[in-house]
Amino acid sequence: MRKQIVAGNWKMNLDATQSKELIDALKAQTFNAGVHVAIATPYVHLAAAVDQTAGTSIDVAAQNMHQAASGAYTGEVSAAMLEGIGVKTVILGHSERRAYFHETDALLAEKVNAALENDMHVIFCFGEELEDRKSEAHFDLVSSQLTNGLFHLNASQWARITLAYEPVWAIGTGETASPAQAQEMHAHIRAVLAAKYEDALAQSVSVLYGGSVKPTNAKEIFAQPDVDGGLIGGASLKAEDFAAIVNAF
Ligand code: PEP
Repeated sequence: MRKQIVAGNWKMNLDATQSKELIDALKAQTFNAGVHVAIATPYVHLAAAVDQTAGTSIDVAAQNMHQAASGAYTGEVSAAMLEGIGVKTVILGHSERRAYFHETDALLAEKVNAALENDMHVIFCFGEELEDRKSEAHFDLVSSQLTNGLFHLNASQWARITLAYEPVWAIGTGETASPAQAQEMHAHIRAVLAAKYEDALAQSVSVLYGGSVKPTNAKEIFAQPDVDGGLIGGASLKAEDFAAIVNAF
């Protein structure tokens, strides 16, 4: 059975006190024990979050990292640095990183390699813009994001990859893909994986949906057979809402 995962992406929100308060509030929640729960805090809170969640089932993830091992890259953070403070998971390819920081598929492939070389898990994000969907290019676009970002990996490396399909038009907009639209794309993703590798691998990779998931719509989305959880932005900043989403399985 595939792992069910709900990950919160805090983005550039919350100061140190608020971060501590939210983690305290999360620790007071009861989460469905079958679901792997992760929170991606801003870099500056990661070490404290790792300490604060020690002994709990909450995994702490980074929202990005640099592809190089070390060097003259002012302002950047490497996989080894993250690994060194106990962060074992990194989100790569978020649409905000692609759009605002010009991250390309080729760059993301390098970042994926660096993360895997450091034994980290990757939540790899991708998804189409509204224009792609309107022009019915969304399936091809997603296929190419997967091909260019990940299809250089060998089958065993996929044990450390979680996919997060996030249609850009649904992120932070309040607009959600319908459960049927999510299922249709997730089934496509699995078919593309099966064609490149084999069906057993395609069936083993968790594919999350992201884009305005809330307590009110999580159940319907998570009920889709190829949806294995969610990457949650806005609703991950409230402990009760995040727990309600985790418990929507
Ligand atoms: C995200 O940033 O990955 C996301 C899905 O955001 P939101 O849930 O706010 O749409």
